[in-house]
Amino acid sequence: MFDKILISRCFLGENVRYNSEIMPLKHQLLTLWQRQNRFVAICPEVFGGLPVPREAAEQQLHNKIITISGKDVSVQFNLGAKQALTLCRQHNIRFALLKESSPSCGSTLIYDGSFTNKKIVGQGVTTKLLTQEGISVFSENNFEELVNLLDKNNKD
Ligand code: SF4
Repeated sequence: MFDKILISRCFLGENVRYNSEIMPLKHQLLTLWQRQNRFVAICPEVFGGLPVPREAAEQQLHNKIITISGKDVSVQFNLGAKQALTLCRQHNIRFALLKESSPSCGSTLIYDGSFTNKKIVGQGVTTKLLTQEGISVFSENNFEELVNLLDKNNKD
């Protein structure tokens, strides 16, 4: 039985990004894993109740998520994160492949809250919660690490 993987829905080419841009992650292994029905897909922001398209939002002080026009969307972001965790628990998921730098899905870098395209070290809201709960989160930048880990698990 293969490990299931939580994946950002935008990686599957779905129209869920804040700006409606379609940005699939293309890799032959992803195609294989999809065929093997290994993915559980989520867009935490859409699951949290936000529309497509939606305003850009960035993390601010005290874990608040604020849109570019100043609207507090922390509730929706936190709800999406909890739903991601629920899915992980339902499917016994230990690994996630989430989009880097997103205020929900980023795993090593996020935007700094100034809306000036500057990134800082940090994690998105969903990634933070999943990591706290023992789920390993990877991104398009360290995808190979996930591949190696899954490979090792399948051999153990
Ligand atoms: Fe993709 Fe995550 Fe942003 Fe949704 S919240 S569009 S899944 S990066």
